[in-house]
Amino acid sequence: MSALRGVGAALAARLARLGVTRVSDLLFVLPLRYEDRTRVSAVGSLSPGVRAAVEGEVQLTEIAYRGRRQLLCRISDGSGMLTLRFFHFSAAQQQGLARGTRLRCFGEVRRGALGLEMVHPEYRRLTGEAAPLEDTLTPIYPLTEGVPQGRLRALIGESLRELDGAALRDWLPPAAALPPGLPSLREALHYLHRPPREAQLAELAAGRHPAQRRLAFEELLAHHLTLRLRKRALKTDPAWALADGAGLARRFLAALPFALTRAQSRALADAQEDLATSVPMVRLLQGDVGCGKTVVAAAAAARAAGSGLQAALMAPTELLAEQHWRTWRDWFAPLGETVALVSGGLPPRTRRSALEAIAGGEVRVVVGTHALFQEGIEFAALALVIVDEQHRFGVQQRLRLSEKGQQQGRLPHQLIMTATPIPRTLAMTAYADLDISVIDELPPGRTPVQTVVVPEQRRSEVVARIAQACRAGRQAYWVCPLIGESDELRAQAAEETAARLSEALPAVRVGLVHGRMPAAAKDRAMLAFKAGRVQLLIATTVIEVGVDVPNATLMVIDNAERMGLAQLHQLRGRVGRGTEASTCVLLYRAPLSALARERLRVIRQSSDGFEIARRDLELRGPGELLGTRQTGLAQLRVADLMRDADLLPRVQQTAELLLASYPDNIAALTARWIGAGERYGRVG
Ligand code: ADP
Ligand code: MG
Repeated sequence: MSALRGVGAALAARLARLGVTRVSDLLFVLPLRYEDRTRVSAVGSLSPGVRAAVEGEVQLTEIAYRGRRQLLCRISDGSGMLTLRFFHFSAAQQQGLARGTRLRCFGEVRRGALGLEMVHPEYRRLTGEAAPLEDTLTPIYPLTEGVPQGRLRALIGESLRELDGAALRDWLPPAAALPPGLPSLREALHYLHRPPREAQLAELAAGRHPAQRRLAFEELLAHHLTLRLRKRALKTDPAWALADGAGLARRFLAALPFALTRAQSRALADAQEDLATSVPMVRLLQGDVGCGKTVVAAAAAARAAGSGLQAALMAPTELLAEQHWRTWRDWFAPLGETVALVSGGLPPRTRRSALEAIAGGEVRVVVGTHALFQEGIEFAALALVIVDEQHRFGVQQRLRLSEKGQQQGRLPHQLIMTATPIPRTLAMTAYADLDISVIDELPPGRTPVQTVVVPEQRRSEVVARIAQACRAGRQAYWVCPLIGESDELRAQAAEETAARLSEALPAVRVGLVHGRMPAAAKDRAMLAFKAGRVQLLIATTVIEVGVDVPNATLMVIDNAERMGLAQLHQLRGRVGRGTEASTCVLLYRAPLSALARERLRVIRQSSDGFEIARRDLELRGPGELLGTRQTGLAQLRVADLMRDADLLPRVQQTAELLLASYPDNIAALTARWIGAGERYGRVG
C-alpha cells in the first residue's frame, strides 16, 4: 500500500507516534470503543452509564452555582427530562440554548442531583428537516497529541477504501492453526473500523467478537514470534561452557545446612545442564515467595566460580542486595569463596577495593544492586548474570548487565528469578524469549499463614495482639499504608505510625525502616530486626521483596484495601518462614470498593501464588501484572492475554509453522503489529 497522501509533515510526525507511517498502518490503529450514533434514544429509556444520542427541546437554561459556576440546560422529548451540565461555556453558547431550541446530544448518562444528566455532551442544534444519523457504529480511536479524532477517522476511512482496491497481504499461511469460524483479515478490519449498526456493542466492548479474535490471534502471534526470534538470536552467540572443574557446586550443596527440595533440585538440574554448554542460558526461575529460589541461584553461581569465572546477582533494592550478600557470604564461607557487595551505599574505599577485586578476578561471586551495570564497573570474566525479582527491572537493564560480560566475545548466561507466578500457557507466550523452570514446592516444615481481615475500628485489638506475640518471644511487621506516590509522604506516615505504636506498646522494642532512610540506617534497622533486638518493625512496602526473618510470625498490613493482590501476597510471604504458626492481619478502612472487597477475599482464602495470580489477572488484566517494563506483551492493541488465553496454544502452533516453513512472512507480520521491533529493545 502507498504512503500517506495529503498529510503534512507535522501530522505525519504525530501519526508516527501511533506507529503509522504507511496507509496500511492506519488499518491497524484499532478503535478503543464504539458509540452508537445510529439511533436516537428516548430520554425516558436512558439509564446511568449508557452513552446515547437523544433529541429534545430546551425547557430552561440557567447559570447555577453549585460549588462552581456552571450552565444547566434542561431538555425534554416528551418521554422524560434530561439535564445538560457545562462547566466551561461561553455567553454565545448560553444564548444558543434558549428555551424552545431543538437539540441532538450525544454523551454519557449519569445520575445527577436533578435526575439523569450528561456532562459536556456533544450537541448540535436541529433545524427544519431531519439531520441524517450515522449508518455504522462510530469508532473511537486512541489519540495522540495533535491528531483530532475526526481527522484520524477520515484517514482510516480512506485506507479502508484503499483496502478494497489493493490487496492487503495476509501473512498467515492457509495451514495456520486459526480457530474455526473467524473472518478473513480483510473482513475483520472492515468490521472493526465500521461495525454495522446491529453489531453487538457489549460483545465488541468485551473484545470477544470473532473479528477481534482474528486480529488478536495475529497480534499475539506477532509478539510471540518476536520473542522467539530474540531468543534464537541470543542463542547464536557463544557463552562460557562452565565445567566446574573444582566441583564447587557439589561442595556448595554438601555444605548447606539443609537439603534442597525436589523442586529446587529439578530447577537446579535445568540450570546446570544449560551452564555446561556454550549456548547462553536464558532461564526464568519461577516460584512462589519463600520457595527458595536464592539457594538455587547461589549453587549456579558456585558452578561459575568453580569454573574459574564470575557470577553476579543483581537485586532490586539495597536492602535486598545486602541481605543476599550476607546469606551468600555465609553459604560460600565454608568453600573459602569471597563474596563481594556492590551497592550505592558503600563507603568509597570499600567500594573501590571491591571494584578492583572484581576487575582483577580475585572475587568470583558478586552481589549488588543495579549499581552493578553502571559505568566504571568491569568484570574480569562474567559468565553468569542472576537477576532477582525480575519484575522490578526492565528488559533493558538485564541486557545492559549481560553486555558487561561480553568483553571476551562470550555472552554471560542469565538466570532470572521471579515470584510472579503466571499460568503456564501464558508464561510460554509472555516469556517466549526465556526457558522456564518452576519451583512448585515450599521447603518442609512451614506452617501456612492464617490471614484475617479486620476493620480499622478494631485496631486496638490488633495492637494487643502484637504485644502478645512479642511477649511470646516472636517478632512482628507493621506495614504502613500506601500514601500517594512520594517516598516522602510514605516515610512520614511510617514515622508517625512508629511514634504511635511505641507509645501504645511501651514494653516492645520498635524499629523503623522506610525508603527515605540512608542505606546504612536501613541496614542497621533490618539487622537489628533480624538479630531480634527490634521486636516490631514498622515499614513501608520496601520490605515487600525478599526480606527473610523466620522468627517474625505476625504481619499487620495497614490500609490493605489499597494494595494489589500480588503486593499483598508478596508482603504476606515475609511471615510463615519458620516452624511457628504465623498470622497476617489485613487492616482495612470502610467503605470497601467491590474490587477491594474481592481482593481481600481472595487473599484471605488462598495462599497459593498461582491461584492468586490467576485471580489477579482476572481482576486487573495482564498488563499490570506483568508490568509494561518487562514484556512488550503488556502493550497489546486488541489481544488480552487473559481473555484470549484459549488462543495461545494455537498461536504457538502457528509460530512453529511460520518459523519452520514461512520464515519470510515473519518480518512483515511483526512489523505490522510491533513496528520496527524497537519496543523490545535490541538484543545485547
Ligand atoms: P524466595 O524464593 O522467595 O526468594 P528464599 O530464597 O528467600 O525464597 O528462601 C526462603 C527461605 O527458605 C530462606 O530462609 C532460605 O534459606 C530457606 N530455604 C530455602 N531452601 C530451603 C530448603 N530446601 N530447606 C529449608 N529451608 C530452605
Ligand atoms: Mg527472593
